[in-house]
Amino acid sequence: MKFVSKNTELNFVDGVGFLTFPSLSEIGCVHHAFSTRIGGVSQGEFKSMNLNFKRGDKPENVTENYRIFCEAAGFDYDTLVSSSQDHHTNVRCVTKKDCGIGIWREHDMPSVDALVTNEPGVTLVTHYADCTPLLFADPEKKVIALAHAGWRGTVGKIGQETVEVMTEQYGCDPTDIIAVVGPAIGFCCYEVDTPVYEEFACLTELKPAYFTKSLGHGKYMIDLKETNRRMLLEAGLLSINITISDVCTKCNSGLLYSHRASGGKRGGLIAMMRLEQA
Ligand SMILES: [Zn+2]
Repeated sequence: MKFVSKNTELNFVDGVGFLTFPSLSEIGCVHHAFSTRIGGVSQGEFKSMNLNFKRGDKPENVTENYRIFCEAAGFDYDTLVSSSQDHHTNVRCVTKKDCGIGIWREHDMPSVDALVTNEPGVTLVTHYADCTPLLFADPEKKVIALAHAGWRGTVGKIGQETVEVMTEQYGCDPTDIIAVVGPAIGFCCYEVDTPVYEEFACLTELKPAYFTKSLGHGKYMIDLKETNRRMLLEAGLLSINITISDVCTKCNSGLLYSHRASGGKRGGLIAMMRLEQA
């Protein structure tokens, strides 16, 4: 399996593969990782590091995968808080009392596609398999956030919603926020029909010509990552503070679960992030 990227690192610890983003690593106050398929115990279409409890995999295997992943990537299993994603744009602020939700405690709230915290004892977890991961860190106010932006979340502006919560509830200045638009299905592979294209064409303030391309016959290519990048610029982030991972999940479906590449027979990837203790 060949992995090529200019801005995303593939790490191996104890046989577990995970991705990191140098632009987040270098700010020092956050610890983060993005999972791959490598190093878990799941079998068949879930092979092997499936971190999604909702895909039909054996729960004990998913739990074991979380334990293996946390050990390898340097996270504390007891502090995980997972989103209950369903392509909406609700942002939830979480604290230590929420630890375990969606992992070793039941989800207590539906429709949470983004998580924010300012507590070092909390590890945020969000789920992907082609959808766009948005990772945020404010090194000044010490606030972090993760968001899940599929096409619905993207046109619903979950990136902007997340930045608004960071600014309004935690006092962040958008120009301080470092963001990564993580591994997702790329412009190379994300083909849609007219109804989805039209949702993106409506985002006129972002200049859709930069992230849509017609193939003719009612087929279009959409650049989800670039759409999200432009939305974050609209939200006040600085261009220099936004990195787009050049990794396409569908082009790398041996390494990463891709919903499109697998026809939906797949496990799930996660982004994990926590603040380091001061
Ligand atoms: Zn691709």
